[in-house]
Amino acid sequence: MINLFQPSLGEEELQSIKSVFESNWIGKGKLVAEFEKSFANNLNCDATHFLSTTSCTEAIFLAAKVFDFQLGDEIIVPSISFPSIASSVKESGADLILCDVDPYNLNVRAEDIEKVVTNKTKAVFITHYGGVPCDMDSIMEFCNRKGIFVIEDAACAVQSFYKGKACGTFGDMAMWSFDAMKTLTAGDGGMIYIKDLQKRKRAQELLYLGLPAQQKSGLDSSESKASNWWEFNINEYGRRAIMNDITAAIAIEQLKKLPGFLERRKEISVFYDKKLQNVGDLILPKWDYSTIKSSYYFYWIQTSKRDELAQHLLDNGIYTTFRYWPLHKVNLFSSDGLYENSEKISDNTLNIPIHQGLTDSEINLIVNSITKFFNR
Ligand SMILES: *Cc1c(COP(=O)(O)O)cnc(C)c1O
Repeated sequence: MINLFQPSLGEEELQSIKSVFESNWIGKGKLVAEFEKSFANNLNCDATHFLSTTSCTEAIFLAAKVFDFQLGDEIIVPSISFPSIASSVKESGADLILCDVDPYNLNVRAEDIEKVVTNKTKAVFITHYGGVPCDMDSIMEFCNRKGIFVIEDAACAVQSFYKGKACGTFGDMAMWSFDAMKTLTAGDGGMIYIKDLQKRKRAQELLYLGLPAQQKSGLDSSESKASNWWEFNINEYGRRAIMNDITAAIAIEQLKKLPGFLERRKEISVFYDKKLQNVGDLILPKWDYSTIKSSYYFYWIQTSKRDELAQHLLDNGIYTTFRYWPLHKVNLFSSDGLYENSEKISDNTLNIPIHQGLTDSEINLIVNSITKFFNR
């Protein structure tokens, strides 16, 4: 079976895990700090606003706390979003307000947000679908004017840029994922950006037991160290969702390999663009290459024969899927609004394999199988 996504892990990751074992410190330590710094630097940022965690979903739930979502607040979420976003909003007691998205690139637009905004709107979650940035100029202009917090789900946008600025650094908070299917994987893991440093500090405390961010340990060389370092105070009810040095060791190696991964993904995307144009009734993804740098996390095609095509490809050993099933169709989140584009997208869109491990013969097989399907 040709996989939709696949990790590329090797000797380098194994070697660095080995060193972590030998160091006798596998918890959150200097490698986590190094990864936070390198990740931020890769996005042309310094690490001050960044904070690692255990998953992107953890960060999504954290957002509800950091921005104090509560009864009476309205939180706008595009119907085509990762499900934990809706869960986080619902759990907070705030109202989940779904909106539609662009029919072709599946990204939310300022006009979609504008249709559902009210004076109760507190925040909007946007998702850079498949690693292709949303139109940030119009979204930020609108949300700033309305005083709405912008939270960017950048899980797919590990290194995406809009007009030279990294996705995840436009709004008030953003989160990335390093789960098993992401381009940069550490097995599991997440990264957070928070613009306001007070909120960033609070987030750090919430993710680590509610302990004050400046809590010292007995090993600290600092002069200000408490003499009884086992005493503590708790600022807030906190969880324990911190990255460890084993995860960070993998992530650091993956970050070094990321440019190569992205280059191969781009190559595959360009190949699909070329070979699949004018095949059947296919509509291919498009964006403005002069202002946008994608992370090529998804490649998607749209066709009126989506279901038959998916079955045909599965029969030929090619796994495909559709991400993300619209939230308005999920019972727990259902809403009676009209989401015409999301409806259409959920009928016609198919994500086909794209990952750096695909060989030339595999991508040829994929293209040939799709072409054959339409020429039957
Ligand atoms: C993978 C993904 C998530 C969730 O990430 P986890 O680290 O698995 O919690 C959230 N949003 C999007 C868009 C994703 O692709």
